[in-house]
Amino acid sequence: MDESDPQTQVRSSEMIQDLEFTVELLKIYYDKAFPYDKMFDWLSYFKVSKKQNRLQSLEDGVDSEYFYNREFSFTLENDVYCRYLCFKNPTDLKDALVSRTPHKIDIGAIFNIPPKNHLITEKKVFIPLEKEMVFDIDMTDYDNVRTCCTGAKVCKKCWAYMACATQVINNVLTQDFGFSSLLWVFSGRRGIHCWIGDESARQMTNEMRSAVTEYLFLATGNEMGGGFDLGYPLHPMHQRAYKFLSKRFEQIVIIDQDLLAHEAHQKKFLKLLPQNVANELQSRMNRAQTSQEKWKLYKDTLDKLHASGKTASQKHDPIMIKLVFTYLYPRIDANVSKGINHLLKSPFCIHPKTGKVCVPFDPMTVDNFDIQNVTTLSKVINDIGNSKDGSIPCLKESLAVFQTFLNKLKADSQNELKKYKEKEQSTDF
Ligand SMILES: [Zn+2]
Repeated sequence: MDESDPQTQVRSSEMIQDLEFTVELLKIYYDKAFPYDKMFDWLSYFKVSKKQNRLQSLEDGVDSEYFYNREFSFTLENDVYCRYLCFKNPTDLKDALVSRTPHKIDIGAIFNIPPKNHLITEKKVFIPLEKEMVFDIDMTDYDNVRTCCTGAKVCKKCWAYMACATQVINNVLTQDFGFSSLLWVFSGRRGIHCWIGDESARQMTNEMRSAVTEYLFLATGNEMGGGFDLGYPLHPMHQRAYKFLSKRFEQIVIIDQDLLAHEAHQKKFLKLLPQNVANELQSRMNRAQTSQEKWKLYKDTLDKLHASGKTASQKHDPIMIKLVFTYLYPRIDANVSKGINHLLKSPFCIHPKTGKVCVPFDPMTVDNFDIQNVTTLSKVINDIGNSKDGSIPCLKESLAVFQTFLNKLKADSQNELKKYKEKEQSTDF
């Protein structure tokens, strides 16, 4: 077969189109496409042992203790789960991925010793020391407010819920906690992950992780009961979230999801309203057809009640606050965030069910993230087949997002080193 013959290349590309996920393709992906050096830069946080300082590690070939003491876990074919794996350097990781071709890779904590040695030490001295704080949001937690898809399906319309969650959480983490190194990743099917790479986040205890999680977590949407009161005036964080989300409520919930046109959703909506508003509205709403018509009736009814002084003034609109927080506030999986020892799927895994790559994305442009055209394993394999210089165009954008995150980590690490040296010099006289 002549590889340089364009006809042959087109044919081989076409053949791959229908194969979404096979061990053979995965092996090629791990061999040619997985970004080992970037993953090493990330997980070593540029804490690399210097060549002259051989004593830093008792084992040969360890490029970074920080990387080596990190737990990886693999889920192999047939759901065989292997924990406490660790790797000395990018080559070591590559050898393992290519030979074992895990269907899923998870990343855990950095321990006091290399995790693979956990059985040959006393259990009490095997301790997780550091890990990024993480957030996990799953689309299935929005099943009670979406009409376009259910279960594992996600489309542009329901991605809007994820885009809202991303922007609210990103804002809180940067504004209220001062974190600046956030990596946002699409999980490959129906979820998103956020990794906080700041040193102060990596060093947080479980108690601190719980405190940050509780600050963000509201059970407003998960139950849909509306039985919550955020108080007045709103907490400044809730106020900011409200300001952001309320502008999007009508487009996402009323128009795109066409929610009120569905009887069950209309029922839930009415339950969230004060009794007098719901009574006034119920029979009129049943006569309207579309969600938008019903929403207009709601607004008209509210205006009427405001005018007659039967509800609070519009300046502080407790009903709208309830609706916005119930439908649009982020629904985070709190347990994932609270534990230092919680593993989370690695970026650049391939989701076995969709063939999609877990790609990092930019939270600033999350509204435009094209969920239905995320790069797949077969696209990557096609690009590898067509590439003359080893570059993989379909991964370019997500690798650039990842690199931006890494550049920030590198700058932080250099600043730390500089401060440390200055401190050393000032005391060294
Ligand atoms: Zn959808």
